[in-house]
Amino acid sequence: MRGAVSRTRERALAVVRRLRAAGHEALFAGGCVRDELLGLDPDDYDIATSAPASVVQEIFPRTIPVGLQFGVVLVLHEGESFEVATFRRDGAYVDHRRPVSVEFSDARHDAERRDFTVNGMFLDPETGQVIDFVGGRADLAAGVIRAIGDPQARFDEDRLRLLRAVRFAARFGWGIDPTTFAAITRLAPTITGIAWERIGDEVVKILTEGSARRGFELLEDCGLLQVLLPEIAALRGVAQSPDHHPEGDVLTHTLLCLEKLEVGRHDEALALAVLLHDVVKPACAEQRPDGRITFHGHCERGAPIAADICLRLRRSRDTADRVAWLVAHHLRHVDAPRMRIATLKRFLGQPGIDQLLELTRIDALSASGDLAAYEFCVAKRAELLAEEPLPEPLLRGTDLIELGHRPGPLFREILDRAFDAQLEGEITTVEAARSWLRERHPAPDRGAPA
Ligand code: ATP
Ligand code: MG
Repeated sequence: MRGAVSRTRERALAVVRRLRAAGHEALFAGGCVRDELLGLDPDDYDIATSAPASVVQEIFPRTIPVGLQFGVVLVLHEGESFEVATFRRDGAYVDHRRPVSVEFSDARHDAERRDFTVNGMFLDPETGQVIDFVGGRADLAAGVIRAIGDPQARFDEDRLRLLRAVRFAARFGWGIDPTTFAAITRLAPTITGIAWERIGDEVVKILTEGSARRGFELLEDCGLLQVLLPEIAALRGVAQSPDHHPEGDVLTHTLLCLEKLEVGRHDEALALAVLLHDVVKPACAEQRPDGRITFHGHCERGAPIAADICLRLRRSRDTADRVAWLVAHHLRHVDAPRMRIATLKRFLGQPGIDQLLELTRIDALSASGDLAAYEFCVAKRAELLAEEPLPEPLLRGTDLIELGHRPGPLFREILDRAFDAQLEGEITTVEAARSWLRERHPAPDRGAPA
């Protein structure tokens, strides 16, 4: 919302003014400057200042010291928070992740420690003047991601920048400067030297911030895909039957699917499921005598592998489970038109069905384009479940026990059958359910007199 965002900007400006009134330099810095120059609403406003962190803490009544050793303080102002960081230059890096020491410095050095030229600018919010020590404006106009300084050295300092370069290039539809790109390609095999949490967060951002297809094409081009997700890289060249997949091999199909991900509409779990839905196809490929290629069992077999990959990317167990479920069921809807009404109600009444149908829509659109089974499911779901969600089962385990059954493997099966009968309309009351049970599944005769 434009209005809400400009209120955020006004509050950030108030923070800058208060720092200036106390005699310090203060500027908008980094991503928010880039976004404003692009005409986009920044997600957040970061402020760079000559004031030391201790002074920032004194000036503002409410602050959180989020990184004092780096001079970073979170200032809370009118219900919003702003990162205020002292100008600094970074010392040598350890672990290809963070500097051993920082030295508080001036705006020029603070620009030079940042990753890419377009992320290295400052803005004076009172005058509108852009302060650009690193050539960010020219690169922004040309649409180029370029490392500040020597690319190889900068990527070696912090390997996460390899992925950030790809993410920004994809998000804005820009190119990567050739020298910067060559350094990314050279260093790609070393990306795993940093924590998988950070890698996973970046990969998910590439998947969910828009232009995921371009992001993954860039990851493949520079070799990061092969290192981070070799299972996806291996989909390149895996042939499919042209009748179902006129688009080409499995990676081509997967990239077309990624192209259909929309910001805000598709969450992390769905995006990961889209990426991973065919991950096990290479191992399942079989050529039949008539020349057609089948991938029998790739949904079920793909599910645990997809979950493992999510866990490797340090996603939560819940996300991994949801992704596995989506992968396991991504072709189930094809049988929907032939399902008994109870099976269909049960299928369409599952909690994750919206996401599953969304995955099937994206999958079909990226292949033959045949949406008949998807549309059938959407229509049936509206018809069967719109006003009437899946009911509570009339027959429960306790009824079975009461009527003389012993808990065991048959239990679930009997309860499922009873629920089916209920969904078909055959059973409508608890009493009817109990009679159905006595009739169809009489309890084993335990108490008969001798
Ligand atoms: P986004 O819109 O994704 O938030 P951003 O550019 O604001 O993009 P942040 O991670 O919020 O990215 O970081 C804010 C600024 O801090 C960046 O614009 C950049 O100047 C600097 N920065 C962030 N991460 C790094 C890094 N790993 N190495 C160097 N500079 C970085
Ligand atoms: Mg940011």
